Amino acid sequence: MSSRREFLSRSALALSAALLGRSVRLEALQGGGPSAPVTPVFTPIRRNVGFFTGRGGTIGYLATNEGVAVVDSQFPDTAALCLEGLRERSGGRHVDVLINTHHHGDHTGGNIAFREATRRVVAHVTAAAHMKAPPGRPAPEGENYYPTEFFMDRWATAVADEVIRAAHYGRAHTSGDIVVLFERANVVHMGDLVFNRRHPVVDRPAGASLAGWIEVLERVTATYDADTVYIFGHAGEKHPVTGSRDDLGVMRDYLTALLEHVRAAQKAGRSREEALAVTSPLAGFPDHGPLNPTILGAAWDELAAG
Ligand SMILES: [Zn+2]
Repeated sequence: MSSRREFLSRSALALSAALLGRSVRLEALQGGGPSAPVTPVFTPIRRNVGFFTGRGGTIGYLATNEGVAVVDSQFPDTAALCLEGLRERSGGRHVDVLINTHHHGDHTGGNIAFREATRRVVAHVTAAAHMKAPPGRPAPEGENYYPTEFFMDRWATAVADEVIRAAHYGRAHTSGDIVVLFERANVVHMGDLVFNRRHPVVDRPAGASLAGWIEVLERVTATYDADTVYIFGHAGEKHPVTGSRDDLGVMRDYLTALLEHVRAAQKAGRSREEALAVTSPLAGFPDHGPLNPTILGAAWDELAAG
């Protein structure tokens, strides 16, 4: 026990030192102003599984005195708040495993805050490579804590009385997205495979595919059941970051409608510039707000590439 306590207090010291350095750099990047205030919120779902919201992609967690697992890590500052809250919920226990759903910085930037707390970081093999060298984006600044275990299709582990399974269903938001199931709780973390009622990021340089994304959502929906609670990476204002398979259906239908809308523009002989100038909402999806050149461009370029 004493070695565990020592381990934890050394971790806390190392973490504060790392965060001090990091927050200075963040403030420098933001022109010296203070960071936007963050309200960390832990929301239980069931069987010790819940979700944490601060800033960036939603974090999923399992926290008991017998085991702790974390899915995604947001940013260093919010990850530290998350870790602090998880320790309160687990009697000061270390983290058994940290899982990254994909490589984006708002889901992995906080890994560094977990370096002293866990020895296991798991990701899809492609996501792990993209964390170090994100395609089409500058390499991340500063140090991070990179995955220690990778997989291609399926991965599983036991933590406390829970079984955690991860699976890759193909290209979608990136080429390294995974879905993470807490089996006994019947809770699935979707990473950024669901932007609930919000235009999604489509990372084409990292291998994203809207057509693939539609198929992935269909396969996921067919894999789990009507009682499954899904955690979403992001949601539109006034929309929740959890939901049911009906919400996966809305996301799939939105992606289908988006591709159809842009395909119709191409068939009608419009130029890329004309098609991307549309700002009305996508027909049938008013909650997503006005269309914009970024999302329309992603659809245009995918269709144009065949
Ligand atoms: Zn993402």
